[in-house]
Amino acid sequence: MPDSDDDTPVSFDDDEEERMERLLDDTEYDAELGVEMAKDAQRVAAGELSEAAFYRRYHEDVLEEFGEDDRELTGLLDDAGGEGFGDRLSGLADDEDLSRREVLKKGGAAAVALGLFASVDDGTAAAQQGDDEDGPRYGMTINLNNCDGCLACVVACNEEHGTSAGANWMYVFTYEDDHQGDENFLVRPCQHCTDSPCTKVCPVGARHTREEDGLVLTDYEICIGCRYCEVSCPYGVNYFQWGEPDVPESEIDDDHQIDDRGRWVGARPPEGVMGKCTFCVDRQDGQMGEEKVGTTACEEACAMDAIHFGDLDDPESAPNRHLREYREQQDNDMQFPNRKEHTVSTFELMEERGTEPNVRYIGNEPSPHAEQVEGPVSYEDAGIVDNRKEEVLDNGAMAGDGGEEA
Ligand code: SF4
Ligand code: SF4
Ligand code: SF4
Repeated sequence: MPDSDDDTPVSFDDDEEERMERLLDDTEYDAELGVEMAKDAQRVAAGELSEAAFYRRYHEDVLEEFGEDDRELTGLLDDAGGEGFGDRLSGLADDEDLSRREVLKKGGAAAVALGLFASVDDGTAAAQQGDDEDGPRYGMTINLNNCDGCLACVVACNEEHGTSAGANWMYVFTYEDDHQGDENFLVRPCQHCTDSPCTKVCPVGARHTREEDGLVLTDYEICIGCRYCEVSCPYGVNYFQWGEPDVPESEIDDDHQIDDRGRWVGARPPEGVMGKCTFCVDRQDGQMGEEKVGTTACEEACAMDAIHFGDLDDPESAPNRHLREYREQQDNDMQFPNRKEHTVSTFELMEERGTEPNVRYIGNEPSPHAEQVEGPVSYEDAGIVDNRKEEVLDNGAMAGDGGEEA
């Protein structure tokens, strides 16, 4: 396997690498390849490595390990130009035994992005090329100042999606931080990143970005459980389904599982497959009624008005309105210096990683010295299994163990 350049600004300490290796050692797939790809996918997001270089660096190894290379690398067309890369992929198509579909599988997103095939009728190309400019771009504004740590969002998400014990797609950290006092909250779903490392490493194209609205989803039918997406995610939001799910298949309606493209991406995953927050994809597809489109279970359960979900491209959507009103209030407060202490910042989680999260926060970002503490309502008291306790919220440990389901 090729060596990576470790002298780049996105760095990984020993603990982080150890955590990645430990997670991947539990799978039947090449752990070393997964760790190197995860680190480099984050470098791609941070603009330190081109997608073409990333593709080339791992193409042979991915083919050897998985028999296909269907990674979603949507920026390839932009950064592969002039490097003769297109010729190399065209060479694949010249192989007389390969059908167009097989070449797509082998060359994956790269072949599509390079325009080697003018049209593909199975929707794969469009899905891999990125978002639809006319559709919504779903995201959230989470106002951490409003959160009181009640965990209602966590409970609601678990119940609606039938997740197994320990798989908390929504997670609320209570933490202590030097500059913020002793009870602060971080409310953390999947960030549905626009430049997501998890989609770049998935060898089979199971983890993908839905073209019509930017949701980052896992196709449960395609996922082979290699866990590469989990280790590549800087936010630690993935949960591997180890055994039989707690909620059996018979108790979940098809409507909540199959999305409007006919792909199995909703509700809890089956055994051996990766799960995470879906931004309540079944709601967005109208499967819970038109009135639930543009809403999420966690938002609905929050009595403190902390979670605001909607189309980030619509200035009048709930997340944009909330942010605007907050900023207007902040401007107002600035005119009265004695009220200044009420003003706080807005941020995106680990913005420097370049993942372009579609979740924006109002409040203070946890510093690298933040420490998780027991919240006002413990996970145990809320009837939730929590395998992420006692983490330190720095960039390394932020990702946590994840996936340690019962
Ligand atoms: S936060 Fe979600 S979209 Fe972003 S890298 Fe992690 S799993 Fe992927
Ligand atoms: S665990 Fe599944 S979704 Fe994740 S990278 Fe592997 S095949 Fe893709
Ligand atoms: S958006 Fe939906 S899937 Fe995601 S954390 Fe909230 S309730 Fe769970």
